[in-house]
Amino acid sequence: MRIGILGGGQLAAMMAGAGLPLGLEFVFFDPLADACARRYGELRVGDWASAAGGLLDDCDRLTCDFENVPATVLEQLAAGRPVRPGAQALATAQDRLIEKRLLRELDIAVPEFFAVDRRPDLLAALEQIGLPAVLKTRRLGYDGRGQAVLRCREDLEPAWARLGGQALIVEQWVDFRHECAQTAVRAADGAIRFYPPSWTVHENGILKLALAPAPIEPALVEAARSMIERLMVRLDYVGCLTLELFATDAGLLANEFAPRVHNSAHWTIEGACTSQFENHLRAVVDWPLGDPAARGQALMINWIGHLPAAGPWLAIDGVRWHDYGKAPRPGRKLGHATLVATDPVQFAERLNRVRDLLGDQWSAVLDQLPATTA
Ligand code: AMP
Repeated sequence: MRIGILGGGQLAAMMAGAGLPLGLEFVFFDPLADACARRYGELRVGDWASAAGGLLDDCDRLTCDFENVPATVLEQLAAGRPVRPGAQALATAQDRLIEKRLLRELDIAVPEFFAVDRRPDLLAALEQIGLPAVLKTRRLGYDGRGQAVLRCREDLEPAWARLGGQALIVEQWVDFRHECAQTAVRAADGAIRFYPPSWTVHENGILKLALAPAPIEPALVEAARSMIERLMVRLDYVGCLTLELFATDAGLLANEFAPRVHNSAHWTIEGACTSQFENHLRAVVDWPLGDPAARGQALMINWIGHLPAAGPWLAIDGVRWHDYGKAPRPGRKLGHATLVATDPVQFAERLNRVRDLLGDQWSAVLDQLPATTA
């Protein structure tokens, strides 16, 4: 069976890494001729509008590695073959205002937010939520791009100069205890399987670390599962979805969801019985879903802007290496490493070696891991 993936980045590459051994073939569609998934299958190049012009007609199923593929293109493509997840899920996630309204409608708590189209909207919203607050573009923001944190009145002018003039939302600043992410996979027949949640650490809006399973209370795990289940059912979702969450003193607040495989669940490649990439494909193809349970403890470290030499890392037992084959650029995700261990003692030993290699510039990030692992 041939799977067409819209977007040829590392997520597409890792899907192919999981799907090739299952006998699946892959075709990637991307606007860029050097898209890194080209190492795993045929890359077809064109702008998104041209994707529906017959270039993917020989694919049996379609899915996305990029969540901003225009929903209209997905709708056209769905006339010919299953597109999973479907256009509605992507359209919802592509607009932060529509996304947050849906979450709220589903009784999934979110930070207080307001739509901002003009400057007076921002001032009126800040009267309600106060400072600090976060101004975000409604569309096309990711990894902290298209965002400005408003800590004091002086931050308003530069933020408006940078982001004003497009559709925005402003959100209350959440003083979270930590962040976490819940991934689940849903099949077309409605079966859902939940991964253990990951404890995530971001820096400047970009994911740096994901520890799984996150050592959080069972009641929070139940709450996260219930939230993601409601969302998947409402969207009649097929495939993997990740809900990014803030853990606060008052419980969980949802930040956003990603209608695709997600960086916070890369640990599942080595750390779970069935990876998110394989389970996503199983759902896309209509094969039975696999066991999402963790095999032990895992920590994923993202390489952003700079990829260290693999050698010293591979000298540590339990470290697995992923080089996406991308040219370095500031803020670009170039690869990741996953540390796995079967028990907490072994994990702590291995983590000490990882800390030594990471050096001092990672200490502020590592300090945000749960006390049980620090
Ligand atoms: P986003 O692009 O919305 O996923 O935001 C990226 C990261 O910025 C989040 O994972 C948080 O670390 C931080 N962030 C975003 N929104 C808020 C908020 N309302 N309060 C506190 N931190 C936030």
